[in-house]
This record gives sequence, structure tokens and C-alpha cells, in this order.
Amino acid sequence: MPAHDVAVVGAGPAGSTAAYRLARAGARVLLLDKARFPRDKPCGGGVTLRAARLLPFSIEPVVEDVIDRVDCRLDFGPHFSRHAHAPLAFMTQRKRLDHFLLERAAEAGAEVRQGVTVDARELDAEFVIGADGCNGTSAKQLGLAGDVVHGVALEANFPRDERYARTMTLEIASVPGGYGWIFPKGDHVNVGVGGWASEGPRLRAHLRRMCEAYGIDPESATETRGYRLPMRRGGPLVRGNAAVIGDAAGLVDPFSGDGMYEAFLSAKLVAEAVLAGDLLSYAAAVERSITPLTRAGWGAKQAFDRFPRTTFALARMPFTWRAVEKLLRGELSHPGAARGVEKGAIRLIDAVSRVAA
Ligand SMILES: Cc1cc2nc3c(=O)[nH]c(=O)nc-3n(C[C@H](O)[C@H](O)[C@H](O)COP(=O)(O)OP(=O)(O)OC[C@H]3O[C@@H](n4cnc5c(N)ncnc54)[C@H](O)[C@@H]3O)c2cc1C
Repeated sequence: MPAHDVAVVGAGPAGSTAAYRLARAGARVLLLDKARFPRDKPCGGGVTLRAARLLPFSIEPVVEDVIDRVDCRLDFGPHFSRHAHAPLAFMTQRKRLDHFLLERAAEAGAEVRQGVTVDARELDAEFVIGADGCNGTSAKQLGLAGDVVHGVALEANFPRDERYARTMTLEIASVPGGYGWIFPKGDHVNVGVGGWASEGPRLRAHLRRMCEAYGIDPESATETRGYRLPMRRGGPLVRGNAAVIGDAAGLVDPFSGDGMYEAFLSAKLVAEAVLAGDLLSYAAAVERSITPLTRAGWGAKQAFDRFPRTTFALARMPFTWRAVEKLLRGELSHPGAARGVEKGAIRLIDAVSRVAA
């Protein structure tokens, strides 16, 4: 009999929440990470309400700001702001969030080993889950490296600035294939830029421009770091008794660059499949629950890339905002599920994306 029912490689949001769910259900779970926690991960740390709602516990102890306003500008030009009637996202720092999630997994009964690297093929477990992010090795080792396109992002922290409190500030299309952001945290703001991988050499200049445009002193930057964003176009997610989840599976939204919702959801889906003894059903569940969102993300990315002004004009329409608000809050599974006038707005953006493609 294998030493563990499930071995999970990587204890980020995907791995720790998968381990939590499986251990809570009574499985003997081994959760491994090459790092020792608390460790940081380059990330805006924005957990949409949609993502937070997926968790079986509250992340309130590590929330540093609550977002109910979005400020959106098109390439340092036209601008609109929207207020929501309820929270849209929680701002966290990954160092604290990931440690918190790891502790929940350990409390649930998962055996946690930190500071170790392993070959995913040699683990003594009935099921193996690769959750070691976009720079991990498990996907390749398990024969599950899919068709993944990489974006790049650069971010840094700056002194807290009350102008950005409770607000998600987005500078759309300021970077080809991406955008810039300002996210408020407890004692600082996180400013970042991301886009196509080819923008890598220009990201420092993009970040400086973003700071200058928003009255933030670029020289006050601390913890400047870059990282990749894996965006899946296809490929296997399951082979034999092994599966990949989260960034290891390339499940980052191509438009927003968010991946925590997908990490939490793929963790939930893989745990359900393992507990049902039918790992193959995980791949089908991802296609059903995550792929429509990924497809819409690719569409929005293409539309903004090719026709930024038209797409921005559509995005600022009140009906589009209503759909976006519902998406962020998890009240709409994907843009294609919109109804009524909101559906009309989404259809227009979809039409632009098809022309762009
Ligand atoms: C700059 C930037 C900003 C972002 N901002 C946001 C945001 O605001 N909101 C959002 O939702 N998403 C955001 N994302 C995406 C988000 O960070 C990822 O989608 C998310 O971290 C995926 O979680 P994960 O658990 O799959 O992988 P990770 O968080 O990468 O965790 C992987 C874990 O595996 C471990 N590991 C790696 N290799 C090995 C190995 N060989 N053996 C054992 N362990 C290993 C690592 O130490 C790590 O702990 C951002 C990404 C970037 C780059």
C-alpha cells in the first residue's frame, strides 16, 4: 500500500487548498514545497470575491484592504470610475496569504514537508497532484506539460498612498497584451505592469511610466520583481494517476492575469475527482468550469490589443460594468452566461474579439 493516498507538489494557493480539501475528507495527504514558509510569490495579491467564495474558510485574517471601486484608464488617456455596492475583491500579501493557506492544510491533517524538491514520478502515493506553479518541474515530469503561452509581469511596492485605498486602479492597454495596476495593501501600494513575453525588456520603463502618471515616486520602489504568467491553450491535465492544477496547468486568465480563482477552483475540482476515484473527470470538469472563462479572456485580450478604443468604449458602458461586477463577485460563471442587456454588451465585445482574431 502506498505511504500516502495523495501527494501534492507545491503549496501555493492551488496545492494548499487541494491538500486541505483532501485531508478534510479523510485522505492521507503529503504536501511538499521547495520553499520554507512564510515565503513570498510575485503577485498583486488581489483575491476577487469570486475566488474567495470558493474557499471553505474565510481569509479575513490576512485581508489588508477591501476593494469596492474600480478606476479604469485607457493607455493614460480616457478614464472612468465605477463604485460597487458590495466588495469586489480582497487585497492580500502572498507571503501572508500562502502561509495562512498552508496552515489550514496542516490543521486539516495534511503532512507538510517544506524545503524539499522531489521528482514527481517517484512519490509513493496513489495519486500525484502537480501544483508547483509555472516554474515547477512536475508538469514535465508527469508528461503533462500542455500548450502554454507565457506572459511576463513586473511589480514593486511603494509607500501607502490614501488616494488608492479601497480601489483597483487599472491602466488598460498601456502594455501590449496587458495592463498596469495599483493595488492598496496595509502599509504600501503594489504597482505592476504585465503583458506579452516580448515586452520583458521594456517592463522597467513601463513600470516607471505607470508610477510617474499616478504621482508615485519611482525611486521609492522596494521589492521589485518579475515573474511569468502561464496561459493555457490546451493539452492534457491528467495522465494515469497524476494531474496538474493552478499555474502548473497554465490556468491563468489571459486577460486579467489573475490565477487565484483558477488555482482554488482547479484544486476543488481535482479533490472531488480524487475522492470519487475518477481522476479523468477532473479534466472534463476544467473544460466545463474554467475553459469558457479562459476563452473569454483570450477574446478580451485580443479585442483590447487590436481595437483598444472601441473595446474600451464598450467596456465603460453601464451594462458592461454590471456584467463585470457580477463576474468579479462570482455571480456570473463566465461572460457568455450573461443575460438581458448585459448579454448584449458582452456580445459586442465578443464580436470585436472575433474581428480582432
Ligand atoms: C506579477 C503577478 C501579479 C499577479 N497578480 C495576481 C492577482 O492580483 N490576483 C490573482 O488572482 N492572480 C495574480 N497573479 C497570478 C497568481 O500569482 C498565480 O496564478 C497563483 O500564484 C497560482 O497559484 P499556484 O498555487 O498554482 O502556484 P504558485 O503560487 O506559483 O505556487 C507554487 C508553489 O510551488 C512551489 N514549487 C515550485 N517548484 C517546486 C518544486 N520543484 N518542488 C516543490 N515545490 C515547488 C513554490 O515554492 C510555490 O510555493 C499574478 C501573477 C504575477 C506574476
